[in-house]
Formats: sequence, C-alpha cells, structure tokens
Amino acid sequence: MLKISQLVKRYGNGAPVLKGLDLEVPGDSVVSIIGASGAGKSTLLRCINRLVEPSSGTIELNGLTLTDLKGAKLRAARRRIGMIFQGFNLVDRLTVMENVQSGRLGYLPLWRAAMRRYPKEDIRRAYELMERVGIAHYANKRADELSGGERQRVGVVRALMQEPEILLADEPTASLDPKTSEQIMELLRALSREFSLPVLINIHNVAEAKQYTDRIVGMRYGRIIFDAEPDALDKDA
Ligand code: ADP
Ligand code: ADP
Repeated sequence: MLKISQLVKRYGNGAPVLKGLDLEVPGDSVVSIIGASGAGKSTLLRCINRLVEPSSGTIELNGLTLTDLKGAKLRAARRRIGMIFQGFNLVDRLTVMENVQSGRLGYLPLWRAAMRRYPKEDIRRAYELMERVGIAHYANKRADELSGGERQRVGVVRALMQEPEILLADEPTASLDPKTSEQIMELLRALSREFSLPVLINIHNVAEAKQYTDRIVGMRYGRIIFDAEPDALDKDA
C-alpha cells in the first residue's frame, strides 16, 4: 500500500506545484492519474521515487516512511520502486537479458555486473518473468531489434526484477499503437493482481484509464480534483 499525506512540492522559491496531496493506492490496485499538462502528475511520481525532493508531507510504502529516509536506506528503498517509462529507457545495443538484468544491478557486486555474470537465481527469475510476458524467445536479441510493445515488455520485466513493492508508470503507452497499448495496460493490471502490487500510472488516454484501471485520480493545478472508480465518471468526462 502506498500512502501519501499532505504532499507539498515547490521548486525553488516558486509557488507550490503540489498543494497538499492525499492519496492511497492499495496493493493489487491500479490507479491512473490524469490531468492537463502542468497539473503536477510527473512531479508526483518523481516525489515517490525521490528524483524530486518533496517540500513537505509524507510518503509511506508498506509502512516504511520513504520521506524520512536518507543515504543508503533511501537507495535501498528506491530499489523497491519499479519504474516504467514512455520511451522504455532500454539500452539499445544490449540484449534483452542484459537489459532485464540491469533491474538487479543495484543488488550486484560491481565486478559481476561488469562481467555480466548474473547469479543463477536471477537468470531463472528473468526467464520466468520473460515467459510470463511473452518475450522469453527474445532473451538474446538486441533490444533495438524489438517492436515497441516488445520493448515495453522488456521494461516491465526489468522493473519486476527489482522485486518492487510498487510500479510507477509514466505514460507507458504513449509511444505505442492502440492495440499494443491495450495489451500493455492489460498486462499491468494482471501483474498488479498477481503480485499484489500497487500500480500508479500517469496516463494521457482517458479511455484507456477507464478501461484498465481501478481508480482514476484527476489532478489540476497541483490538487486532486477527483478520485473515483471509472464507472462513477461520466462516460465522456
Ligand atoms: P504534468 O506532469 O502534470 O505535466 P509537471 O509535474 O511536469 O506536470 O509540472 C507541474 C508544474 O511544475 C509545472 O508548472 C512545471 O512547469 C513545474 N515544474 C516541473 N518540473 C520543474 C522543475 N524541475 N523546476 C521548476 N519547475 C518545474
Ligand atoms: P509464493 O508465495 O508461492 O512464492 P509469490 O506470489 O510470492 O508466490 O511468487 C510467485 C513468483 O512471483 C515468484 O517467482 C516470485 O519471485 C515472483 N514475485 C513475487 N512478488 C513479486 C514482485 N513484487 N515482483 C516480481 N515478481 C514477484
């Protein structure tokens, strides 16, 4: 469960761009965040993974208050946050297996990572997850040989290799065609259920948000203006 209380963020001396947000995302639920550009959606995700330092408020993940952590403890906690990106963020010239294993790099001694000597358990786990999302037969292909949907599956497996306690997805389908987008959304929902993972998705496409997520959170000018199940929203809202 992710629990955000009274989260405020201001950049520099500017006006706050998050103005006291409260949000809970239980395990095995998928929540999408929608709102016009500039509403604060990316800032919210970045506060959770601490690419951005919150100005005040608390963020708890499974009872651990992330906003209290510093140094090594913060780095350890950040590894439990799986990120999925719009542009996939794969290393093109590396293989699928190498990309997927990079989700574990933070856990590996440096020499092993450099030699690409992955622990047996990590290889087994990678195959299991690649199998699950349908890309195991591409393990030894270069990432740039795959289609967009396949690349995003690699991104998903890389995130799962971290044994995350939450998945954060920043416009995960924005560079995919509609059919592939639906498959990826469906996959995220299924994985959330299977692994009891809270999934928080910053998404543009309201129709996709309605179809594939459990709750839709609307943001405007740094505030949450609604938080509802898709059925509760007007059909063309
Ligand atoms: P969204 O993801 O909803 O488009 P953002 O979180 O990117 O919104 O932006 C919210 C507000 O914060 C905007 O006014 C934006 O200009 C501002 N902002 C975002 N990042 C920075 C930054 N690094 N420095 C200063 N202002 C920023
Ligand atoms: P069991 O309790 O039978 O081990 P789990 O649901 O805990 O079942 O795990 C089943 C498989 O899913 C295992 O291979 C485990 O490593 C993997 N798994 C469990 N939780 C996560 C997670 N948060 N992210 C990725 N994989 C996970």
